Amino acid sequence: MKFKRAIVWFRNDLRVHDNENLVKAIQSAEEILPVYCFDPRMFEKTELGFHKTGIFRAKFLRDSVSALRNNLRVLGADLIVVQGKPEEELIRLGEHHHVQAIFFSQEVTSEERNVEKSVENAAWAKSIRTESLWQSTLFHIDDLPFPISQTPEVFTQFRKGLEKIVQIRATFPVPITINYPGTTEIFSSGEIPDLEQYGLKEPEPASGYLELVGGEDAGLRRIQSYFWEKDLLKTYKETRNGLLGFDYSSKFSAWLALGCLSPRMIYEEVKRYEKERKKNDSTYWLIFELIWRDYFRFICKKHGDKVFHIAGIKNQMDSWRRDSADFRRWCEGKTGVPFIDANMRELNRTGFMSNRGRQNVASFLVNDLGIDWTWGASYFESQLIDYDVCSNWGNWMYVGGVGNDPRENRYFNILRQGKNYDKNGDYVRAWIPELSAIKGFDIHQPEELPTLKPKELKIELGKTYPQSMVEMEKWV
Ligand SMILES: Cc1cc2nc3c(=O)[nH]c(=O)nc-3n(C[C@H](O)[C@H](O)[C@H](O)COP(=O)(O)OP(=O)(O)OC[C@H]3O[C@@H](n4cnc5c(N)ncnc54)[C@H](O)[C@@H]3O)c2cc1C
Repeated sequence: MKFKRAIVWFRNDLRVHDNENLVKAIQSAEEILPVYCFDPRMFEKTELGFHKTGIFRAKFLRDSVSALRNNLRVLGADLIVVQGKPEEELIRLGEHHHVQAIFFSQEVTSEERNVEKSVENAAWAKSIRTESLWQSTLFHIDDLPFPISQTPEVFTQFRKGLEKIVQIRATFPVPITINYPGTTEIFSSGEIPDLEQYGLKEPEPASGYLELVGGEDAGLRRIQSYFWEKDLLKTYKETRNGLLGFDYSSKFSAWLALGCLSPRMIYEEVKRYEKERKKNDSTYWLIFELIWRDYFRFICKKHGDKVFHIAGIKNQMDSWRRDSADFRRWCEGKTGVPFIDANMRELNRTGFMSNRGRQNVASFLVNDLGIDWTWGASYFESQLIDYDVCSNWGNWMYVGGVGNDPRENRYFNILRQGKNYDKNGDYVRAWIPELSAIKGFDIHQPEELPTLKPKELKIELGKTYPQSMVEMEKWV
């Protein structure tokens, strides 16, 4: 028997392609009410004083919700946008519109799971059914050849245990049409909120940097451009450690984080590219990176809240410093170490930082400054446009040495990293204009310049640019 009417509660699955939840709901109910809920808890300030969701992600989210609404309208439906707690708003809407079931995608970590449980309990009390399913990973959770509790701790074992054995499920097509009950009842589809109401201010545009635009269509356009028009997939493995510009890596992360793109659809496009253009190490490597994404999801599911705890999953002793002033210098990109500062300033101006940058700034915070790794992870949570709870906390645990990394010490020599990845200093020059007069690699070591030279260049360390917080000689 079909439900008369069902809500599809969109969460981090803001798309109409490969959306099993939407497809299942359409098969199970005569009429569908798609809903997105802006939960004020997502925008609260953390104990450290910054917004849980900062402006870049909030803006990307807003654009993604708006794009989803457009795509649902094309299919004959709409997106009802509400503000409030899902456990209250969905039930209120459900009762008001005589809904019999709520469909949604399952999340991994406790905050999101707790909201799910509250929705389930509140719905149950009103005799509304709930149906949830898993759809955020490349490999489906039900296809894993081990129970979650036995997920291999080491990435290579995890990957090898899946890659050649488990079939990646095919994507679901975009529904042809959605039966929306708008004809006989008056629906207010609701305004997408203004971000100022959450205390978030529009940032100054960062010139010369291509802005990431939220939404399924923009994500699909990026696949089209990166794979097919610019033909960049075939060199991905060689370029992926770049720092400057838009095209050294795929930039899929923000769309993946909000589910505007499905990892399975990217996988299918890679396979098509391999058939029609080229198959090489690079095409494989993009899938390899998507497996990292899966790995952190399943590790977070296995270990629960431990991934947020200072002791991590290794139960390490807490010997971290909690110096707010030093932490603030790191956040603001004022450590006096140009490679670190350039990366932090890029993050603060755009919401994005390369993978190479993330590893360096995280290592610097935990290894060179000895500051609590969870502070760094929280700052990233606020600032990153592509924040993904499992990828972020999982990677931070790794760098903080409290995760499941078989390598004991992931220490980054910042100068050596600069030499390897920014030999001519162009990246630092792009983000630290006050040092831009320094030519070549010297920009990485302003303190090493002969005493007269900085004056000629109008650079006064300690005034125009900060003195280094650490002894840089240790890296020479
Ligand atoms: C300290 C730290 C924090 C991070 N926080 C996040 C985060 O909040 N959200 C996030 O999506 N990634 C995070 N990453 C992983 C990685 O840096 C980004 O996924 C990547 O830089 C995004 O750019 P891209 O899409 O161009 O990546 P590409 O190199 O093009 O990779 C393709 C996709 O593979 C996945 N991927 C690549 N590297 C990793 C990785 N190390 N871990 C998990 N997935 C990966 C991403 O989904 C990415 O979009 C973090 C890494 C570090 C070191």
